[in-house]
Amino acid sequence: MTELPERRLMLVHAHPDDESINNGATMARYAAEGARVTLVTCTLGERGEVIPPELRHLSGAALGQHRLGELKEATRALGVEDVRLLGGAGRYSDSGMMGLPDNDDPGCFWQADVDQAAGLLAEVVLEVRPQVLVTYDENGGYGHPDHIQAHRVAMRAVELAADAGWSVPKVYWNRVPRSVAEQSFARLHDDLPGLPFDKAATVDDLPGVVDDGRVTTAVDGGAHAAAKAAAMRAHATQITVAEPYFVLSNELAQPLFTTEYYELVRGGRPAERESDLFAGVGAEEAS
Ligand SMILES: [Zn+2]
Repeated sequence: MTELPERRLMLVHAHPDDESINNGATMARYAAEGARVTLVTCTLGERGEVIPPELRHLSGAALGQHRLGELKEATRALGVEDVRLLGGAGRYSDSGMMGLPDNDDPGCFWQADVDQAAGLLAEVVLEVRPQVLVTYDENGGYGHPDHIQAHRVAMRAVELAADAGWSVPKVYWNRVPRSVAEQSFARLHDDLPGLPFDKAATVDDLPGVVDDGRVTTAVDGGAHAAAKAAAMRAHATQITVAEPYFVLSNELAQPLFTTEYYELVRGGRPAERESDLFAGVGAEEAS
């Protein structure tokens, strides 16, 4: 019998909650299948808006610590054990939304030296040797400074790691195909009267939406929908879930996707849409 190569997936995210919203089903699926799933989160989300009134007293470092607890609970729900904060918890702080004075805080991730932060991430890449790395597109999916910076740091870390001996075979950006987004929001509008949410977001509010042709990969995580919903619920300061929908602090309902979509940006672009992030990863890349 030929042994399957051990599969290693790394995800780079800006704040606690991004991993569950974007990739929760994917993470749960690969963890359940025995792949090593490594999450690197770059900040503790200290500037996030808190939804539950009873937790609104939390801000700054106290909120960061609370969100670290939420992250641990969420990743436990996903079956993911390898969870790291870039440079250690608190090394980089949340930069807040674009254009706010928060962005000028010298300790915030937006002000980080990209090469320095990428060097820290490259150390993790060299240790874990992932065959697959997932992060955001160059706009961070929707323009949040920490998401843009996570993209820059992740892409630079891939270059640095390649120079130092581990070339990540496949790098993906989080995506949603426009047709899927449009159909999901049409369904949401029909369902809204029966939901505990008053208003719906729009396709334009959704990060990473692109024309269908750019999406190379769809990972069906339907069997892990409950784990994804549980992980999102664990981020109670940030998310309210009513499956198959949820809201963030803006209180605009949006779909909770259990098939998650990706665009392959490093590695040979497949002729047909893949259903597995590890498709085509050879045995030579297994060690
Ligand atoms: Zn975020």
